[in-house]
Formats: sequence, C-alpha cells, structure tokens
Amino acid sequence: MLKAEIIAIGSELLTPYRVDTNSLWLTERLNSIGIHVHLKTVVGDDEARLEETLSHALRHSDIIVSTGGLGPTEDDITRKVFARVTNRQLKLDYEILENLRQRMESRGFKMTPNNERQALVPRGATVLPNPNGTAPGLKLDEDGKLVILLPGPPRENQPMFDICVMPELEKLSRGIRIATRLLKVTGIGESQMDDMIAPIYQQYTDITTTVLFTNSEIEIHLAAQAETLTQAQARVNELAEKLEEKLDLYCYSSRGEMLEEVIGRKLKLKGYRLATAESCTGGLVAERLTRIAGASDYFIGSVVSYSNEAKMGLLNVTKEMLDRSGAVSGEVAEAMARGIKEQTGATIGVSVTGIAGPGGGSDAVPVGTVYIGLADDVGASNKRLILPGDRELIRARAASAALELVRRRYLL
Ligand code: AMP
Ligand code: MG
Repeated sequence: MLKAEIIAIGSELLTPYRVDTNSLWLTERLNSIGIHVHLKTVVGDDEARLEETLSHALRHSDIIVSTGGLGPTEDDITRKVFARVTNRQLKLDYEILENLRQRMESRGFKMTPNNERQALVPRGATVLPNPNGTAPGLKLDEDGKLVILLPGPPRENQPMFDICVMPELEKLSRGIRIATRLLKVTGIGESQMDDMIAPIYQQYTDITTTVLFTNSEIEIHLAAQAETLTQAQARVNELAEKLEEKLDLYCYSSRGEMLEEVIGRKLKLKGYRLATAESCTGGLVAERLTRIAGASDYFIGSVVSYSNEAKMGLLNVTKEMLDRSGAVSGEVAEAMARGIKEQTGATIGVSVTGIAGPGGGSDAVPVGTVYIGLADDVGASNKRLILPGDRELIRARAASAALELVRRRYLL
C-alpha cells in the first residue's frame, strides 16, 4: 500500500485561531483510493523547520502533499524551500506570469513585483492551474516520490486536487479500493454499545472499525479494502447490516445521515407537522430541524420561551402551575408542548425545559435535569433526563434527546 504524508504549511495553523482542515479533506480523498496517510505535520512559515519536514518526508513517504505557502507574500516559502531541499533551480514561467497579469488587470489591479514569486517553478515541475485563485500548484517526481504542492485555501486546492492529481493517484494505487459506511447511533452509552457490537466487528479482521463519540451521538465508521470497489462494498455492507440488526432502534442511520435528516424524511412520509417550544435549549432543536432544506414541509416553527412570562404569554402555561411545580418540571414540559401544539396546529408539539447550569441547580432539581414534553391529539407526556456535561454539552444533548424521543415515539 502506498504511504502518503501531508504537510500543512502556515504559521496561522500553529495559533489557537486556525485549524488545519485541509489534511482531513485530503485524507478522505487519499483513503478512498486506497492510499494510507501515515504522517501529518503542521509547520509554520519557517524555512529551517520546513526544510527538515520536507527532507524527512522525501525519505519516508511515497506521496507527499503539502498545502499553503504558495502565495505572493514574504512568508510564502514553500516553493523556495522545496527547490533548495531537492537542489532544483527556480525558473520564472512567463505563461503563469502573463496569466497573473491578466487576472489582476481584469479586476482593476496592477500587478506588484511580489506577485512574480507565484510564477517561479522548480525545474522539472508540472504546473497545476488554479482557476479559483492566483497561486498555481506544482507537481513533481523526486526520485520516484510524487510531490504535490497545493495552495492553502480549500476552495482553491480542492478542485485542483480532484482535477489534476486524483486521476494520477488512482492509477498509481491500482489494485486497492476502499469502501466505507457510517452508522449513527444514539440513546446508548459508548461502552455499552461497544460491548454489544465488538463480538461482531472483531470477526471482520479485514475491516477497520472506528467508534467516535460526538456530544450525544456515536459514529461507527467502517472501511473495507479490496481489489475492486464492488468487493470492498460487499464486505462493508455485510458488516453494516449485522451491526444495524444488533443495534436495532439505537441505530438511526446506517448511511451516515444526521438525526434531523432521518426525522425529517419520516415526518414528511407520515404527513406529520412538528412545532417546538424550547427553554434551556434556546432554539437548538429548531436550529437542527432547519438544517435540512425543505424542512418547512414538516416543521412549523418554534417559540423560545426562556422566561416564565414567555411560557405564560406565548404557550398558556398557567402561573399556578409554574408556582406549584416549577419551570423545570414534567408538568410544565407537557403544558409547553400542548401550548405550542395548540398555538400552531401542529400534529406534534415538542418542548424542552431544564437546567443547563452552571448555576441554578438544587438537590431536588440538579444541573443537567431536563424534561422533554410531547403533545399530540391523544394527550401529552414527558420524559425526565439527567444529562452530564457542561452548559454547552447539556444543551446539545437535550436537543438531541428531544429529536430522538420524537423518532422513538412517532417514527419507528
Ligand atoms: P496560503 O496559501 O499559505 O497563503 O494560505 C492561504 C489561506 O488558506 C490561509 O489564510 C487559510 O485561510 C487557508 N489555509 C491554509 N492552510 C490551511 C489548512 N491546512 N487548512 C485549512 N485552511 C488553510
Ligand atoms: Mg500561508
């Protein structure tokens, strides 16, 4: 199997403010054609460090892909350092220069001398055109190793990689194809789930199974390798089916869909319309539902009833009930769900009320207590949850739990 290495170049990637996302995207692409990424480096705009990184890469990897540092400014050093490491001369490419000049003039700019830097090409390199920006990419063969130097911005390097690099890599890696599946699970803990499914996936030694936990949902990533894509798909589908069967209703998608996507599809199918009344989640449930284009087919709207006044004024929750049971109670959750259902004419009213913390908890109602209310034509019900985590996590988990409750109650 070919070994690839990714180098993310840019000092901003070593600050707390920018994260290297290019390597994730590139890894996905490389993996899809059976190329393994065995090393990733983030290196600043520092000639000595980049020189070390590139020399190391040339000794240890078959394919090297870098992003960043190809622009016109002083800190864009990738070309220069690469040429030095491989003892290549840099030559001014007049075609690139002319293209740059035209591009700039067509936008009313005059080309400054530092732009010439982007037209320097190490001897022997192939230029990768950049229709979405000024800096072209470069491709080279260095002693049988393939080196790809890409510009930093994703909107420039992604089409460049797909069009100019992928076809060649596919040829290079002929004989290995990878198929993937993504199962999404909720309503069960990670360890409990692993206990259920490990005996199954451990039998598939040719498939890589990766379990990831995000907020309140679990992702099971499956990747199988085979000589053809069809063979790889058959393997991964077989395991996915067995896991789906075992996980039963915990598994809400075996094709990587979002929970709100699955719910939306099913609500639409049944002709149900939903409305939400949210307190501690501040509209997160509505935010998730409306991530899906076309959600207006089944989602009417939401009230963020954060204060008692809003619960009373907008949802007809009574003062007596609030005084008697407290805003965070099953009774109020049901009243909120009924209220929003009545106000909007929805098939199902969904409500969330809880204490996200850090303050406001008590012995009887500790931080993390969340009530989800559901109301339909038959009646109303509520579910009490004690969710772990900080404020942000409790809110995210409460929103997921509300969506999951709708799925379990109405959409299985
Ligand atoms: P450069 O080609 O070094 O001038 O990079 C230009 C811009 O591309 C940067 O300001 C970032 O916004 C973006 N960029 C560079 N490297 C990365 C990376 N590894 N992941 C995501 N964005 C990046
Ligand atoms: Mg940079």
